[in-house]
Amino acid sequence: MSLDPDCWDEFAHLAHRMVDDVVAYIRGRREDPVWRRMPDDIRESFRTLVPIEPTDAQAVYDDFVRTILPFAHGNNHPRFWGWVNGSSTPLGAFSDLLISAMNSNAAGFDHAAVIVEQQVIEWQKELMGFPAEASGMLVTGGSVANLIGIAVARNEHAPYEVRARGIDQRAPMRLYCSTETHSSVLKAAGLLGIGTDNVVKIAVNRRYEIELDALRDAIHGDRERGFLPFCIVGNAGTVNTGATDDLDTLATIAAGEKVWFHVDGAFGAVTRFSPVLAHITRGIDRADSIGFDLHKWLHVPVDAGCVLVRNSDAQRRTFQYVPEYLSRMSGGIASMPPIFSDLGFELTRRGRGIKVWMSMREHGVRRLAESIEENVRQAKHLEERIVAAPELELLAPVPLNVVCFRYRGALGDEDALNALNEKILVALQERGIAAPSSTRLDSRFAIRAAITNHRTTIDDMDVLAAAVIAIGREKTA
Ligand SMILES: *Cc1c(COP(=O)(O)O)cnc(C)c1O
Repeated sequence: MSLDPDCWDEFAHLAHRMVDDVVAYIRGRREDPVWRRMPDDIRESFRTLVPIEPTDAQAVYDDFVRTILPFAHGNNHPRFWGWVNGSSTPLGAFSDLLISAMNSNAAGFDHAAVIVEQQVIEWQKELMGFPAEASGMLVTGGSVANLIGIAVARNEHAPYEVRARGIDQRAPMRLYCSTETHSSVLKAAGLLGIGTDNVVKIAVNRRYEIELDALRDAIHGDRERGFLPFCIVGNAGTVNTGATDDLDTLATIAAGEKVWFHVDGAFGAVTRFSPVLAHITRGIDRADSIGFDLHKWLHVPVDAGCVLVRNSDAQRRTFQYVPEYLSRMSGGIASMPPIFSDLGFELTRRGRGIKVWMSMREHGVRRLAESIEENVRQAKHLEERIVAAPELELLAPVPLNVVCFRYRGALGDEDALNALNEKILVALQERGIAAPSSTRLDSRFAIRAAITNHRTTIDDMDVLAAAVIAIGREKTA
């Protein structure tokens, strides 16, 4: 018995249809609403018993086209700017298909997915200014990249064998980052036994960058109180406003304090690929580890993140275990060591290197960087539109690609403004016009556009500003 098709020709016919449908779908994104809510009857249609008996592949695919495909997240659409999401590429989508067709386990050993990923990591190291001896791997995303970086930091800085003994809470290890830092850093601290109470959130300045004096004071104060400072996490592009900490000074502080320096550069780190924007992340090449995403501003389809660790021995000391069944052989498939399972938590893992390799080659780093620069110009344009419109109010500086603003109209009451702007945001999404997301800055509700989208045009910025004004007037009329 096999699970292969009974008739390969019939399957090939279905597969060709899928290819045509997918190309038409991606090509037509601008014509569709950004997002549409899945109707109740379709939601209900998923509530079925466990499928015990087989269904024809053609019928399963027909259901996909009717009940799943139209109800995507929306991030491939030119006017999606919610949270931080990439917009993918057609070749990227097909490269994922190719990876699944090969179905390689990129834990390691001697085969293409591993060899390609090793090369892709060489490229990331070079682009980030990391030395050739550094190590790294592709992961599902920035959250895992941060977890890995902070895990290595913890293990290298614990004054005892933390991997064997576990955390000793008599001298708590402390991690420092700004109040604007992403929640994945808290998650990592929770998982690693550091404890979220030992994540010291340092205040930010008016540009939403970490206050360096406050950071130094916090570290010194903690030492006096018997804590063990072990890590500073710097931001290259914060989720709220796109701020980047002074990474160069953070590197200097970390070196002086003899603590690990990790950079969360989920979307901001790749601005280093652009000669125009590289100054923003000055000092990132001095980090001990960097976590960043390829599925955000480089548009590799979800999922693709990357972690780099300057000291490859340190990364291996945290993750390497060599059980008998993973031993290296003198030849054959296991003639190379397990490599990536020695650098991270997972054993079986997707051959993501292939899609990154295809994507970086298809567009080249220069074009990818130009697309990033274009998004930054679009954010500037939106900022200018907002500043010029009396009914709109800019709520934070725009150092990069994130624009936080609100409709103000003639309203003065903060609570009323918060309620109104939430309504405007919901209407933008539900009418399928555009999909920014939201945040709160000093308890003020902000409509937040994070532009990591290669399909966006300058005109789309005008559409957003005009729609916010129109809906704001409508809701206050
Ligand atoms: C998105 C993001 C993360 C988390 O990355 P994932 O790929 O979603 O896991 C961490 N930090 C920042 C600043 C982010 O924007």
